[in-house]
Amino acid sequence: MLWFKDISSFRLKLITLFSVLVILSMGFLAVSTSFFLHKILINYMYTYLNNQAKPVIEFYSIYSNDLAKEAKDMIDDITSENITAAVLSSSGNLISVGSFEDSEKPVPLNSSILNLFLKKPMGTFEENGEDYAYIVKKTKDVYFVVIGRLREINKVIKRFIYILILLTIGVVIFSVLSIYAILNKILKQLDDITKISLEIYAGNMDVNIPDSNSHDEFGIMFRAFKNMVEKLNNTIKIQKNFIADVSHEFKTPISYIKAQIEFILTGVYQEDEVFEVLKKVYKQTDVLSKFTEDLLALARLESNIPISKTEVDVVSILTQLKDEFSIQNRNIILDVKSQDTWIADQHYLKIAIKNLLENAIKYSDKDIILGYTGDCIYVKDFGPGIPEEDIPFIFERFYRVSKDKRGLGLGLSIVKAIAQIHGFSLRVEVKEGTTFYICR
Ligand code: ADP
Repeated sequence: MLWFKDISSFRLKLITLFSVLVILSMGFLAVSTSFFLHKILINYMYTYLNNQAKPVIEFYSIYSNDLAKEAKDMIDDITSENITAAVLSSSGNLISVGSFEDSEKPVPLNSSILNLFLKKPMGTFEENGEDYAYIVKKTKDVYFVVIGRLREINKVIKRFIYILILLTIGVVIFSVLSIYAILNKILKQLDDITKISLEIYAGNMDVNIPDSNSHDEFGIMFRAFKNMVEKLNNTIKIQKNFIADVSHEFKTPISYIKAQIEFILTGVYQEDEVFEVLKKVYKQTDVLSKFTEDLLALARLESNIPISKTEVDVVSILTQLKDEFSIQNRNIILDVKSQDTWIADQHYLKIAIKNLLENAIKYSDKDIILGYTGDCIYVKDFGPGIPEEDIPFIFERFYRVSKDKRGLGLGLSIVKAIAQIHGFSLRVEVKEGTTFYICR
């Protein structure tokens, strides 16, 4: 089987294996059916020989007491195109032998065949390239041997084998062609996967992956591969953008802080101005510090850090947050419809609600509703809402709808990461303002 292993093409391997299996099974079918067919036809021949012999033996047994004398007549009576007979004495010597109707020559019987007649009452023998079947009937003092030519039966079997060989060739050709077509269709997807992988390996991430509408395992594998490449592509793009965005967000406040300190050191500002400038500088360091904190939180959450889930009193968290934010001169209305507790990480759940509240305060100037239904925590404001075309992107890092408001575009991606790590769902509804829902 080494040669089989050496075939490098999977197509060729499968087709070779399949063809060998078809040929073997058809061969087995041919051998077994011709064997049984031969047996059936021979048995039929024995019955036929018996039926032919019976009336002759009955007639001559009544008619004569010395059948050896009647041997020739008995043989003549039974002889036809494919049947003739021989008469043997009780000691096994040949008294007379007939010839078939279309032949002048008597059936060639040698001593070993005569012995066979005496040993086995029915059977077959071959002489001079011709096959015969015989039955032996012991009658009074002679053996009456009826001999049939198997020429016709052999012809039928030969024709049968010939048809089977043609059928096998047909089946092999048809199966090889169909398996080749099916294999090509299936393996095209493997070829595509190989080509795409090589392209990606060579650094070309913008490779176009065709769709597969096949529903078999290969189709499923191809779609999984396509999704994986798209996700990988997305991750790489996000990473590239992330680095660009982070450096940009750091650069602006750092340049500002650096310039202002330089101005202070070189005496550009009057003494009474310095305090105000330092206040502004401090604000920028505050931005940097919040940005770094948010980035760290996001990185931790996205690296799937283990969270410590406990039974959390949601109503108590909401009350705490209401008190915390009410100090900022905004009216927060609590709308609590359940006292149910949640299984969650209290620290992160609080950060998520806090981020939503901060956004509501930032993007609206009316009252804010902080609600709890038992299954969902929601934050509703009556601000301008979010344009529909921006909604699919607001949970992405650094995505900001309007760049004029102060914000880093990280708040909602942190909420999303917290929801994901808990297995909670997060959705937004824009209707007379904006409502964000976190549901368990
Ligand atoms: P940011 O730091 O800019 O607020 P977020 O990730 O928290 O970043 O929000 C992403 C964007 O979604 C914001 O820039 C803002 O345009 C929009 N957004 C979030 N919350 C609200 C809200 N309550 N009302 C209107 N727009 C909102």
